[in-house]
Amino acid sequence: MLLARLFLARLLGVKILFLYFVTQIKCILRSETREHPVYATCPSSPSPFSQKREKGRPIQSPSPDLGEGFRVRVTQMGCSRKHYVFTCINGRLFKTDQCTMRLQANFNIGMKARYQYRFYPTDQQRKSLAQLFGCVRVVWNDALALCKAFGKSIDFYKLSAMLTQSKKTDERQWLKDVSSVPLQQSLRYLSVAYRNFFDSLKGKRKGQKVGYPKFKKKTNNQSAEFTKSAFSLFGDGVYLAKIGDIKPVWSRKLPSEPSSVTVIKDCANRYFISFVVDIESEHIEPINPSVGIDLGIKTFAVLSTGEKFKIPDYSKLDKKIRKLQRKLARQAKGSHRRNTTRLRIAKKHKKIADTRKDFLHKFSTVVIRKNQAITLEDLYVSGMVKNRKLARAISQQGWREFKTLCEAKAEKYGRNFSTVSRWEPTSQVCSDCGYKWGKLDLSVRTVNCLHCGATHDRDENAAKNIDIVGIGNCHDSKRTRRDGKTTSVARLSDALRITVASAR
Ligand SMILES: [Zn+2]
Repeated sequence: MLLARLFLARLLGVKILFLYFVTQIKCILRSETREHPVYATCPSSPSPFSQKREKGRPIQSPSPDLGEGFRVRVTQMGCSRKHYVFTCINGRLFKTDQCTMRLQANFNIGMKARYQYRFYPTDQQRKSLAQLFGCVRVVWNDALALCKAFGKSIDFYKLSAMLTQSKKTDERQWLKDVSSVPLQQSLRYLSVAYRNFFDSLKGKRKGQKVGYPKFKKKTNNQSAEFTKSAFSLFGDGVYLAKIGDIKPVWSRKLPSEPSSVTVIKDCANRYFISFVVDIESEHIEPINPSVGIDLGIKTFAVLSTGEKFKIPDYSKLDKKIRKLQRKLARQAKGSHRRNTTRLRIAKKHKKIADTRKDFLHKFSTVVIRKNQAITLEDLYVSGMVKNRKLARAISQQGWREFKTLCEAKAEKYGRNFSTVSRWEPTSQVCSDCGYKWGKLDLSVRTVNCLHCGATHDRDENAAKNIDIVGIGNCHDSKRTRRDGKTTSVARLSDALRITVASAR
C-alpha cells in the first residue's frame, strides 16, 4: 500500500515537473520568436486582406526580414481548417504551397478584441441616434418577417437589393434619412443569425444551441454598426456618418486602427461606442505551472493553491429589484409611470452586471497571468438553473462569462486553458493519495481521508483534483483535441537550418 502511494506521488511529481519543463521551454521559444513577429491571417478566416490572397502575392508586410526561403506555417488560434505555408522574402509573406513541410513554426496571430467607451451625446445627436436605431430595427424586423413568410432565409444580396427598392416607396422613404451602412450591416447580421441557427440545428456549430432569429424590441438594447466607409477618427473624437462628431470618454488608448464601430444604447439609456481592433498577444512569465479552479456559490472560486475569491454582495440591490418588479406588475401597460419603473429596474440590473463584470475581469486576469495551465470544471449551468431555489444565486455568479473571459485571455497570453468533464468525481477523491470515499453531502465542508489521514477542505480538495486531471489532459491530445490550438514553436536557428537544407 505504502509503495503504491509512493509510486503515485512520484508519478504526479514527475508529471508536474515535466509540465513545468515544457512550459519553460515554450516560454523561451516564444520569447525568441517574438523578436521576429510574423503578421499574417489564417486563410480560412475572414480577413481585411482577403483581396490580396492570391498565390504568390504579398499578404501583409509589417514583419522584419526573416531571410529568403524561410517558411512559416500559419495557423490562427481556434481555427481547425487547412493551413498554408508562407515564404517570407524581404519582410513580405508569400503564400506558396499547402503544408507538407517538416517545419512547423506556429504563431498566434489575428486576434480581435472590442474596446468599449462611454459617451454622452448632445440632444440633437440623441434624436438622430434614436432615428437611426429605429431604422435599423425596422429593417431587421421587415427582413425577418419576409424570411418567415418565405419559410427560409433569403440571401443577403437579395435583401440588400430589396432594401434599396423599399427606400423608393412612400411607406419606407424615411430610411433615406439615415446612413445606409448600419442598415446593410443589420441585414448582414440577419443572414449570420440564420446561418448560426441552421448550423446549430445540423450540428455543424458546437456549443449551446442557437435559437431562431427574433424580432427586435424598442425597449431592448439598441445598436448600429458602422464600417470603415462610414466613420473616421480625428483627434479625440469620432465622426459618424449623418450623426456627427461624438466625444467618447477615452478610458484607455486604442491599440490599433479600428475596423468597425458600433454605437450601443443599453436599456438603462446609457450610450456606448465599441471599436473592433486587432490586438497582439502579450508575453508575461507565469509564476505557477498550473492551477485548478473549483467554482461554487458561497465562495466564487477556490484555487488549488488554497486561495479563495468571494463575489461582491448583490443582495441589497437584488431586494430593491424584487420590490420594484412587484410595483411594475401592478402598473398599467403602456403608461408613463410603468416606463419609469422599467428604467429604474434596468438601471439596477445594469449595476449588478457591471459589478460582476468588473470582478470577473479582474479575477480572470490575475489567474491567467499567474499560471501557465488553467483548468476549470465544465459545469452544467443550464441544468443547475432548473433548481428553482438556487436559480437566482447561480445565474448571478456568471460562471459562463468567467469561462469565456478565461478562454479569451488564455489566448492573449499564450496559456493552456482546459476544462474537466462534469462527470469527473473531483469531490469524491483524496487529492493526496487518490483514495475514493464516494459522494458527500453538500453540508460536509472538511473531509478526513481514511486512507492517508490528511484533512482537506472540500473545495480546495476538489480544486486540486481538477488541477491533477487538467495536467493529465495536457498530454492527452485525444481528450482535449487541442492540436490546432497549442503553439509548438520551432527554434529559429533550427528552422533556418531545416529550410536551407531542403531549399531548392
Ligand atoms: Zn488520502
